[in-house]
Amino acid sequence: MNLTEHELFQYLTGAEDEALFQAADRKRAERFGDEVFVRGIIEFSNRCNKRCRYCGLRSANRDIRRYRMDEGQILEAVGEVAEHAGTVVLQSGDDFGYSARQIGDLIKDIKANFNVAVTLSLGDRGLVEYEYWRACGADRCLLKLETTSVPLYKSIREGEDFRERLHRIHCLQGMGYEVGSGVITGLPGTGHVDLVRDILFLTELDLDMIAVGPFVPHQDTPFDGQKPGSVDECHRVNALLRLLNPHANIPATSALDALSPHGREQGLKCGCNVIMPSLTPEAFRRDYFIYPGKNSVPGRSALTHARNVIEDAGFVASMSQGFSRRESHVNQTPQRDAAGHHACGAA
Ligand code: SAH
Ligand code: SF4
Repeated sequence: MNLTEHELFQYLTGAEDEALFQAADRKRAERFGDEVFVRGIIEFSNRCNKRCRYCGLRSANRDIRRYRMDEGQILEAVGEVAEHAGTVVLQSGDDFGYSARQIGDLIKDIKANFNVAVTLSLGDRGLVEYEYWRACGADRCLLKLETTSVPLYKSIREGEDFRERLHRIHCLQGMGYEVGSGVITGLPGTGHVDLVRDILFLTELDLDMIAVGPFVPHQDTPFDGQKPGSVDECHRVNALLRLLNPHANIPATSALDALSPHGREQGLKCGCNVIMPSLTPEAFRRDYFIYPGKNSVPGRSALTHARNVIEDAGFVASMSQGFSRRESHVNQTPQRDAAGHHACGAA
């Protein structure tokens, strides 16, 4: 399906929400039926060497208790996830305190002991490291662009380079990972022009997963006091992305629930097909304080809560590993050949 810039603008105004959300729901159902994939996230470290202006984990924030889980603690948590979900997402701040070898051993242990797909959401680690982790058995990566505006990227991520992030994403695709990216909607100073560009850019990237959530202001960041993103606007963006990317996994992100009590449930009705509850152990989960409202329910309840959200929206929670429904992926084993990574191997 093609949508012109003009049509995208029209939809973003909200004038045609009912028709848009119904069309996105139909498109989702064509590929995914009633299934909603559950992915368990383990946020194993909140240490970060970056200073993103929107995020509570930024290194400049001293009002946060920092933690790092060790391999035994992470594996125990993965065991919990594997009982309830087909994918474990390992997420952390950009924490170089774990060596490539340590993360690789962890991936190998997970793949040897549990029947789960492994997604890495570790930020800007080196390409050689990512290549090694792919060889260790990691299946997917999630690396959000956060915005597709080059100058905005530089300012909200305090000096970081958009092109480097984009290059990393292309290289991960070349390594044979299923790759997810996305943006934050409603960042301070942005509007519909930005969202139209984001939607077209993300679609052009031909992603396996697209994660979009609204901006939630955090009191211990430079964005304290800024207006939060609009939940309805985020639903519109997800619905438009579904129409343009029928095969992609699109999660109803936790930030939706942080701003609106039924945010994720509504998201599932507007084209989303994935829920990613945090199953980070009790001792750490509240310290993974990216934004207010994150991990506000206890770990066990987070899973029950996610299941309720899925059932309330009229769907069935799936424990399948839930690879994306690209025509060429269907009926293929997840271990695709790595291709083209020679062009990216150096950085
Ligand atoms: N350090 C890694 C992964 C952890 S951050 C990385 O940056 O890639 C996970 C995600 O949280 C980010 O990609 C960002 O989209 C989201 N996030 C951070 N702060 C946020 C905020 N204030 N509002 C909404 N989403 C936020
Ligand atoms: Fe660190 Fe990621 Fe937060 Fe940026 S978004 S400060 S890289 S955890």
